[in-house]
Amino acid sequence: MRSEPLIIAATSDIAGKVRGKSFPASQFDKRLKSGIGWTPTNVQITCFDSIADSPYGALGDLTLIPDSKTYVELDLEDGKPVERFVLGNICETDGSTWECCTRSILRAALERLEAVANLTLYGAFEHEFHLVANGSPPGNAYTTSGFRLQREFAEVLVAAIKQAGLQPDTFMKEYGIDQYEVTIGPVSGLAIADQATILRELVCICAERLQLNPSFTPLRDPADVGNGVHIHMSLCDNDGNTVTYDPKSRYGLSQIAGQFVAGILKYLDSIAALTAPSVISCNRLMPHRWSAAFNNLGFRDREAAVRICPVNSLSDIAEMDQFNFEFRAADAAASPYLALAAIVHAGTQGIEEELDFPTVTEEDLCPRRKSMLPTGLHIKGIVVERYRNASMMTPKATG
Ligand code: GLU
Ligand code: MG
Repeated sequence: MRSEPLIIAATSDIAGKVRGKSFPASQFDKRLKSGIGWTPTNVQITCFDSIADSPYGALGDLTLIPDSKTYVELDLEDGKPVERFVLGNICETDGSTWECCTRSILRAALERLEAVANLTLYGAFEHEFHLVANGSPPGNAYTTSGFRLQREFAEVLVAAIKQAGLQPDTFMKEYGIDQYEVTIGPVSGLAIADQATILRELVCICAERLQLNPSFTPLRDPADVGNGVHIHMSLCDNDGNTVTYDPKSRYGLSQIAGQFVAGILKYLDSIAALTAPSVISCNRLMPHRWSAAFNNLGFRDREAAVRICPVNSLSDIAEMDQFNFEFRAADAAASPYLALAAIVHAGTQGIEEELDFPTVTEEDLCPRRKSMLPTGLHIKGIVVERYRNASMMTPKATG
């Protein structure tokens, strides 16, 4: 059958969905200039397709202008159509920035970091997700057999990651039933969120082609672990050198990076609304889910809101270049652009306010708060009921 190749111009919106509109590939150059028509009220579509109260109603027009740097052409060589999509910015019809464009909001946050501290962000999103249709038997946490159940998917996905120009890192069977994790290599600036958005699309495309049902839900089952999005970050100067690491600092974190993290923690209660925005998101942020139960900077602690990550002295990459911190209180209900923008604004605010270096915790914070601990809680085991009224991440590390 005769067919015409189409490219989807897409945007990651405040509901965490990637929405778009396609055009013939032959029009790519024209669309890179003038974009494709977009509707203001689309920003109010929820992840369940209802439309929240909209100030725009049926009125107004915008244009979604693709950024060719994000173009992905994916041929899975399975006899099915080649996937073509490109991410873009939502603009007014005169080309000026639209206030609700998530990508432009992140760009502005990164520009603020640059203006305030002459710094660029470097990083990568780490994603967990379920392949729901599989129904793998329990007993497969981190196992090779759990991996083998999805080896075909994993290999198709890694080929897709390479084809899309991202750098594959790891793929593994995670702890939860049917749960997997994929990581990619770091990049700088806007591309960090572009690649997170592209990666989610690739997971969905590859899974759908293999008749699997992917889910990035923050919490699929209250009795199981959640799907986190862990955002790894470091700060670089204008020459691309990291300023995150200081060998003289007890935990390796430099003064400027400490201020950035202090800003994240100071504003965490507010920015969590953007980084973990769904109704069920806070149910993931509970002790012993290894998510981010506390508002603290933890040294190699997987329950900290921000974790100082390890370095590997056997690696070819210098330790100072490996050194990074990880924001763990995010999930895939959030647009990568908005989540990262919130973090960058909070961190930059911390630098502007010259906040004190945060207290670094090294221990499990739960035993100190025995009253919060449900009895019989086993490692990574969940008793949600007891926590239902506990406020999210409010306990401060006392250090
Ligand atoms: N599943 C955990 C979360 O919700 C993370 C587990 C891990 O450390 O990889 O964030
Ligand atoms: Mg994980």
